[in-house]
Amino acid sequence: MKKRLLLLGGGHAHLETIAAIHTLKKRGHEILVVSPSRYHYYSGMGPGMLGGTYTPEEIRFDVASMVSRQGATFIEEKAKSIDASKREVVLQSGESLSYDVLSINVGSCVADGIPQAKEAQIFPVKPIEKMLRLKETLTRKTRQKCLSIAIAGGGPSSAEVAGNIIQLVDRIGGHQPDITIYSQARFLSRFSESIKIRVKEILENKGVHIVEKDAMVRIEPDAVVLKSGCNFPADIVVSATGVRPSPVIEKSDLPTGPDHGLRVNRYLQCSDHPEIFGGGDCIYFEKRPLSKTGVYAVRQNRPLLHNLTASLEEKPLNAFHPGTPYLLVFNLGSGIGYFKKNGFTFDGKLAFQIKNYIDRRFMKRYQKLQ
Ligand SMILES: Cc1cc2nc3c(=O)[nH]c(=O)nc-3n(C[C@H](O)[C@H](O)[C@H](O)COP(=O)(O)OP(=O)(O)OC[C@H]3O[C@@H](n4cnc5c(N)ncnc54)[C@H](O)[C@@H]3O)c2cc1C
Repeated sequence: MKKRLLLLGGGHAHLETIAAIHTLKKRGHEILVVSPSRYHYYSGMGPGMLGGTYTPEEIRFDVASMVSRQGATFIEEKAKSIDASKREVVLQSGESLSYDVLSINVGSCVADGIPQAKEAQIFPVKPIEKMLRLKETLTRKTRQKCLSIAIAGGGPSSAEVAGNIIQLVDRIGGHQPDITIYSQARFLSRFSESIKIRVKEILENKGVHIVEKDAMVRIEPDAVVLKSGCNFPADIVVSATGVRPSPVIEKSDLPTGPDHGLRVNRYLQCSDHPEIFGGGDCIYFEKRPLSKTGVYAVRQNRPLLHNLTASLEEKPLNAFHPGTPYLLVFNLGSGIGYFKKNGFTFDGKLAFQIKNYIDRRFMKRYQKLQ
């Protein structure tokens, strides 16, 4: 019997399912994909796009084209909430879409909540379209004067953004800005002492200031105020304070984990509503909470495709196994990377080249479907 599979978000965990639309259609199923933009950006390459290493086209998938070329329906809309009791998704327009099986991959957004003046110029690191706006603004303004840039947050994104702003301004021949990272805890607090020290050293050698253990508590039109009461000039603020699952999940009366993500079992399935599945940053994997990294979203592709097909056809599900520790490379700009796998680390050009090779290969695999 023909069933309807509804995919919310054309994110990293849905790529294999989107690639398999033609097969699912041949088996008699109807597929609908809902996403607010026809493009899905690969955030791992976002800082590289900011620095000018990649064009926006190189780091995005044309999901609308991937879907419609295989004869399925792409709806350029934002999901507002899910009414699991009616098996319906409510869209921002007020329209509702029914489903037999639903898969949610709506990602995450920056969890800042720092009070801010209306006139302040703030750019969150997600969605990646905002980094594109930041690049356009910096390209224009750094040609005119030396800016003060404040980056809120002390994780890898803040390091990648700082390094790539320097690369961008070098490339366009602008006035190098004064960049300060304001970290609530210690800079890169989740990482080992040796990583903290080395990444800090690389950034400080480029002229980046790092203020630790002093959170940004208010953003004024041309300054930032810290918890200690100090305030510093800031023409532009970048918000890299970590991410939280999309608010769509909380608005939907679905079971959630402590991070407010959709609580899923080892089949990436919502136990209370077995026809709902999910992947990527918007889920809370109850068996073993996962960090919000693209690596897990990518690893979830195959089990998710299998389980969605199995659910449509009433066949057994496969468990998702998060796998071994993953390779991490920070793009620190100017062709320099910091490589980490298990206890092994190194930095330099080779580290960035490894990331560049892996990221470009990943993009090519799915861009050929658009
Ligand atoms: C600056 C930065 C650098 C990073 N670098 C790396 C890295 O090098 N390696 C790594 O592994 N991870 C990295 N990460 C983390 C990684 O980007 C995320 O873990 C990954 O994006 C999660 O994928 P996702 O598909 O769940 O979410 P997203 O990438 O956020 O995608 C969600 C999709 O859902 C769509 N959507 C959103 N809301 C709705 C809605 N209401 N209705 C329908 N559709 C919706 C969006 O348009 C988007 O297409 C980085 C993150 C940042 C911010």
